[in-house]
Amino acid sequence: MTPGEELLFCALGGSGEIGMNVNLYGMQGQWLMVDLGLTFADPDYPGIDLILPDLEFIEKQRDKLAGIVLTHGHEDHIGAIPYLAADLKTPLYATPFTAGLIAEKLEEEGLTGQVKLNVIARDASFEIGPFKLTYVALAHSIPEGNGLLIETPHGRIFHTGDWKIDETPVLGEPSSHEALERVGDQGILALVCDSTNVFQDAPSGSEAGVHEGLRNEVARAKGRVVVTTFASNAARLQTIGRVATETGRKVCMAGRSLDRIVRVAKSTGYLLDFPEIIGFDEAMRLPRKEVLIMATGGQGEQRAALGRIALGNHDIKLTEGDTVIFSSKIIPGTRRRSAGS
Ligand SMILES: [Zn+2]
Repeated sequence: MTPGEELLFCALGGSGEIGMNVNLYGMQGQWLMVDLGLTFADPDYPGIDLILPDLEFIEKQRDKLAGIVLTHGHEDHIGAIPYLAADLKTPLYATPFTAGLIAEKLEEEGLTGQVKLNVIARDASFEIGPFKLTYVALAHSIPEGNGLLIETPHGRIFHTGDWKIDETPVLGEPSSHEALERVGDQGILALVCDSTNVFQDAPSGSEAGVHEGLRNEVARAKGRVVVTTFASNAARLQTIGRVATETGRKVCMAGRSLDRIVRVAKSTGYLLDFPEIIGFDEAMRLPRKEVLIMATGGQGEQRAALGRIALGNHDIKLTEGDTVIFSSKIIPGTRRRSAGS
């Protein structure tokens, strides 16, 4: 199917399901892809860790795919890139933090240079094929959540990506009421909008509201403290780092994805006042009350750092009197895995 003069929308993944977001817009003989994510498998798929979207529809006409634009850096939006983007032979477009994460993934897979990665400034306008695009900054639980304003001769589409309203997001810009009102005032043909927990009535709390509760818990702890959270939530990492400093604890990090996020965040201008990170040996040598360990595994993933610490298979050891804080809700799709581990 070749797009003609009409405007087409086609979701290849992520609509009506959690994960592997892949959306296509078609017009004037060309397609634009928005996001290329994956899904983490649950116990319904024993032996399978990752599920990739089925791209057969677009692979058959890859010469008509003008580009792939990424809204933000969560795995369900960029996770399939290392597996599928090189075959699509089309350029990627992302804001600096998201592009930093993608560049690391491509490097890990030995694909650096095989996929063209264009870095676009936040709030910038750019063109992909017949589509005129503008990134619109939105708050989310990762730096640089972006909506996309897609301008076509048929009208404007506002494709939100994931988002929340948060006046005090700790890192990055809050969703700007003015920017959103401007988008609305211009007139919108279609709002393509999706967000986890979208059916809950109550507003989600602000990222800034987490600080006091975390500080109280850590201050009360007598021994070592492990805090587990989503590695990609750099604002939360900033808060945890601040709490460590305020409570006289040094920070140690356990989990490769945490190392990656901190590295990319610092290289793109975030987490610049993050405390110095100590190694496992030093963390185990220091008095127990002077250590805070950030660990991956907040969803109960057995192979993540916290799972290995719990099983005694990690350089970080915990004993009676130590504290583990889950600064993470269970996200939909991982509930049973968490309950079973
Ligand atoms: Zn997201």
